[in-house]
Amino acid sequence: MNGPVISVIGTGHLGATHAACLAELGFQVHAFDTDEAKIEDLSRGVAPFFEPGLAPLLRAHLATGRLQFSTDLRDVVRKCDVHFICVGTPQASGSLAADTSAVTEAVRSIARFAQRPGLIVGKSTVPVGTAECLAAALDQASRSGRALDLAWNPEFLREGHAVADTLAPDRFVFGVRTESAEVRLRRIYERAINAGTPTIVTDLTSAQLVKMAANSFLATKISFINAVSEMCDAVGADVLDVAVALGLDARIGTGALRPGLGFGGGCIPKDTRAFAHRAAEAGVVDMAALLRRVDAINMRCRMRIVELASQLTDGLAERTVTLLGASFKAGSDDIRDSPALALANAILDEGGQVRIFDPVASANIPFVQPFLHCSDTLEAAVADSDLLIVCTEWGDFADIDPFELSRHVRHPRVIDARHILDADQWRDAGWLYRAPGRPTADREIRTKRTAPSFPLTVTGLS
Ligand code: NAD
Repeated sequence: MNGPVISVIGTGHLGATHAACLAELGFQVHAFDTDEAKIEDLSRGVAPFFEPGLAPLLRAHLATGRLQFSTDLRDVVRKCDVHFICVGTPQASGSLAADTSAVTEAVRSIARFAQRPGLIVGKSTVPVGTAECLAAALDQASRSGRALDLAWNPEFLREGHAVADTLAPDRFVFGVRTESAEVRLRRIYERAINAGTPTIVTDLTSAQLVKMAANSFLATKISFINAVSEMCDAVGADVLDVAVALGLDARIGTGALRPGLGFGGGCIPKDTRAFAHRAAEAGVVDMAALLRRVDAINMRCRMRIVELASQLTDGLAERTVTLLGASFKAGSDDIRDSPALALANAILDEGGQVRIFDPVASANIPFVQPFLHCSDTLEAAVADSDLLIVCTEWGDFADIDPFELSRHVRHPRVIDARHILDADQWRDAGWLYRAPGRPTADREIRTKRTAPSFPLTVTGLS
């Protein structure tokens, strides 16, 4: 294909998927990461994380030769005309702010190594103002000859759907300073744009803000329904009925309206905090206060489950609690800021024992919490357990036979912190079933409905 040769800097969840999808679109792609082990895996067609459909795409385009991975940044930059920045922007230590140092370093390196004019496209999520500083530095450097333009093209993919979301996104946002940057981006994403994907062309500042605002809005919606859930517990209402009825209002919608254990993962928590921090810096105190409250409600969801667990087991000391699920959401092995691991730590602090079973994320746990016990099978995880807590909405857990499982546990008690089990079925099988925001059996008005008639998406999270 005649088109720009493209570099992708940073090959994590975002960058590896983006690189493979650009190759699928026909471009020659050179991807770089500082993590040698990751580059080695990717070069062999192995996805370093769980993402359906990614490994076949990697293998296909390693074979076509359109996709190459490298740890030599100078070589990568010199070959390319367009450079996508996909490095991590984690929460800074000791602060709510985002650590954007990897973005700055990547842009600096491109400016140092580039031998021809080109376009740098930021995809990492950054606080508003980051791109403007980078653009000013690039303009300064460009006076010495190599003109590098900067655009911001925030990414909205969801882990677990990353390939499909990248190839067919629900919208494009192009923050540009020049017409030629817009033309280049339109050319790269031509296929999806021609298929009708809405494309918003704006300035750098607005483009950065869209992404932070989108994640913060999702966080707010999730914390809102979880605050309603606490209200339901206080007054004896059923949060699932409330959520379904709320979601049927088209102005509200069903997305991110499932109550439970709240949000986690590598994006929404740190982006909400970074937005709050940036809002405070900009003097927008209401936004900062709102988002801090959203974060606090989210953290409280976890403590509500620990309190309920303690109540059901008459104190957690020396009790064995099995956590079903470790990843922050189903469809992903991502355990960054995982609500399940937060529960695990709180239960250990109370003197309890914790066992974890997750269909895909267990292998990641020893790297971050080596003292936690992960079981290979569900039966091993629940053996002699005093309490099960469903922490991740994996479909496999909804399919568990509660009669069969009750034979393995010490006490048949379950907290359905993701609202995926059939309450009647579990109670009929002899379990003490509890779910935040839902009536306990003794005050439940039994109806035929045990689940919402349409799916309330858990988080829709990235
Ligand atoms: P990640 O931790 O999976 O990957 C980040 C990668 O950047 C790592 O492989 C790391 O080794 C690499 N890296 C760090 N410093 C580098 C440097 N100086 N040069 C080259 N590589 C470097 O993170 P991620 O989930 O892919 O997120 C990346 C960015 O994309 C973040 O800003 C995130 O907020 C944003 N984002 C992520 C998602 C998602 O679903 N994961 C969705 C949309 C946007």
